[in-house]
Amino acid sequence: MCKPLQSSFLSPEAENRRLRERLDEWEREARNNEEVFRRFREREQELLDADGLPQLLEILTDGMQVSFKVCAVSLVLQDGNHELRRLLDAGGRPAATFDRVRFVDDLESFHPLYCRLNRPLLGPYQADEHQSLFPGGCPPLGSVALVPLMLRGQPVGSLNLGSRDATRFTRHHSTDFLSRLAMIAAVCLENTAVRQHLVFSGITDALTGLHNRRYLERRLQEEIARARRHGQPLSCLFVDADHFKRVNDEHGHNTGDLVLREIARRMRECLRRSDVATRFGGEEFALLLPQTDADEAFCLAERIRRHIGGQPFPTAQGGRIPVTVSIGVGELPGEGGDGAGKRMLEQADAALYQAKRQGRDRVVRADRPA
Ligand code: GH3
Ligand code: MG
Ligand code: MG
Repeated sequence: MCKPLQSSFLSPEAENRRLRERLDEWEREARNNEEVFRRFREREQELLDADGLPQLLEILTDGMQVSFKVCAVSLVLQDGNHELRRLLDAGGRPAATFDRVRFVDDLESFHPLYCRLNRPLLGPYQADEHQSLFPGGCPPLGSVALVPLMLRGQPVGSLNLGSRDATRFTRHHSTDFLSRLAMIAAVCLENTAVRQHLVFSGITDALTGLHNRRYLERRLQEEIARARRHGQPLSCLFVDADHFKRVNDEHGHNTGDLVLREIARRMRECLRRSDVATRFGGEEFALLLPQTDADEAFCLAERIRRHIGGQPFPTAQGGRIPVTVSIGVGELPGEGGDGAGKRMLEQADAALYQAKRQGRDRVVRADRPA
């Protein structure tokens, strides 16, 4: 609660001094908030950049411990069909090696707390209530923050932080940053698990290692629903190799295949972990960009175009082939029911067609719908 700035009992000098002290205090607070925000952004970026499930789990445990400077961190994850555990085992880093991560078949049967954990819970540590959330034991704790990982409105686990300091996590602390971080963590976990799962199932393109069109169609519906729910933008790019037939004709089909692989690799280097890159067919790729509006998508498309066209592609015979791409940009229309996703793809396809007609090696953005 702010005290009134004016006091009739103080001399002008004392009043000035008081004002100055108050301003200093606000400035310190603002700087502190800025620092907290910066640290959260760094964590978010790390999560988005994580390469695979093991790294993600490490960031969510060891990484969070360093970031939050707390003495105990644990992660509880719902894994009803044991898919996460299977993926970790198959990837050579068995689930059992993550001693701070607890995989449970059903959250609510594991701990009744999860029946009501739909936003961060901060408060004093209570051994009977919280002990089982920190596997492997923990030092005496004063306070805890239990942050649910929410997906589609449901908790799919929680990130648990424990501090010796009883005043570190109290119900008076703001939890917006924590909620946001947990949402990103949940999405990254899901994305990473899905991506790793695809390696074992049939919806990955064998030549480039990207997802295929079937996967795009499935993810499109999920991403549209997510974008609508959180009021976030969603864009897509259609990327098509220019005069690719000539590459095949002049250098052979095998070299053509190598070029397609290299295009996929260079595109991936420009993308975030949360983006969905697919081979749409032949020498055409479709990229789905969550939380990205058309302006940002246009900038990304330009980066991709330059990254691909900037350096000729080496061939197995020691030659070098200049390759360029044309890119069309589409954005999810603000309005529209089931057909919105289809319209976004059609927009991007039409923009790509424009780019080809205007001479290729360029990015064209679809006109905004009137
Ligand atoms: P444009 O700039 O108008 O896109 O010209 P283009 O030559 O790239 O387009 P066109 O549609 O005429 O030719 C596409 C070529 O891509 C023809 C096809 O043989 C080749 N292609 C499609 N899939 C593959 C593949 O998996 N490997 C190889 N090597 N070539 C492929
Ligand atoms: Mg082409
Ligand atoms: Mg084509």
